[in-house]
Amino acid sequence: HKPLGPSVSDWDNTRRLHRKVRNGDDTPKMILVTGSQPSACENPVGDHVLLMYAKNKMDYCRIHGIDMFYNMAHLDSEMSGFWAKLPILRKLMLAHPDVEWLWWMDSDAVITDMAFKLPMAKYSEYNMVLHGWDHMVYEKRNWIGLNTGSFLIRNSQWSMDLLDAWAPMGPKGPARNEAGKFLAEELTGGRPPFEADDQSALIYLLATEKDKWADKVYLESSYYLHGYWKLVVDKYEEMMEKNHNGLGDERWPFVTHFVGCKPCKKPDTEDDDAEKCFKQMERAFNFADNQVLQLYGFRHSSLSERAVFVIPEKTHVADKKERTGHVHFLPHPS
Ligand code: UDP
Ligand code: MN
Repeated sequence: HKPLGPSVSDWDNTRRLHRKVRNGDDTPKMILVTGSQPSACENPVGDHVLLMYAKNKMDYCRIHGIDMFYNMAHLDSEMSGFWAKLPILRKLMLAHPDVEWLWWMDSDAVITDMAFKLPMAKYSEYNMVLHGWDHMVYEKRNWIGLNTGSFLIRNSQWSMDLLDAWAPMGPKGPARNEAGKFLAEELTGGRPPFEADDQSALIYLLATEKDKWADKVYLESSYYLHGYWKLVVDKYEEMMEKNHNGLGDERWPFVTHFVGCKPCKKPDTEDDDAEKCFKQMERAFNFADNQVLQLYGFRHSSLSERAVFVIPEKTHVADKKERTGHVHFLPHPS
């Protein structure tokens, strides 16, 4: 029994027949894929966070010519929760043979560098790109050696095969629960024995079948394809003071991912972190939103404020570039 359905074969040849070049534009097509559960959040604030984080992704995609797909359906009753990304990625690959790359992004991840361009030329020989470190995955088998909250996967036969090899620990129920205990023993870094998650399963697969997969997997650490929120959120003001967007690394993180925050869940009175999470999720959004608003001459009054003000003329876009070195990705509408 295959959790994702019957095997696909010879997909690369099928794709070749479908691939067309748009108006002489030969840049490979990409879809950013994200989504959230079909129902409303238990915590009403969570739905607002989902809206803000969807807007953020729309902004980035519009600016950079990327298509976007937001999935709210459970395409497969067994592959629920964090495993839902596997069936949707596979369906989109098959439905869009002309698309070269899919970029999965969790709903709790926000693009905080609106000017950073993914260095796709660097990945021409690879089929999957994740934030992580080789030694942490292949030697240490550490359960945070890579992150599956924001990653790139090429539309290819290789990816079909990888998804099939990745999926077996996913089906909800005994398979997922037993696999969770197994992964807790096999991986390092203190993974608790909760149900198997897609990230741990991928690390285990890569570490145990290195020869089969590793040469096509690029573990990226030169910029934050995923950036752990606790490492960056307190530094946004300092970054705005000293640095400029377009860098994507610790100087101006490309992605800020709110791992562990669970914005959608009922507020838990035991959880001291919850309030901090919401405050920081809003700050991260405003940090990103300022880079969009600035094109239209507006800015949030501070990273904690929803209110915006008109940027005074003399510090307007053109001058700001000199002052802060911001990278401008669209002409200012004058
Ligand atoms: N997700 C989804 N449908 C669901 C549950 C989750 O599309 O029913 C997506 C959502 O984008 C989420 C990601 O899967 O961010 C990872 O799930 P997880 O439970 O790890 O949530 P997170 O901790 O990232 O919020
Ligand atoms: Mn996440």
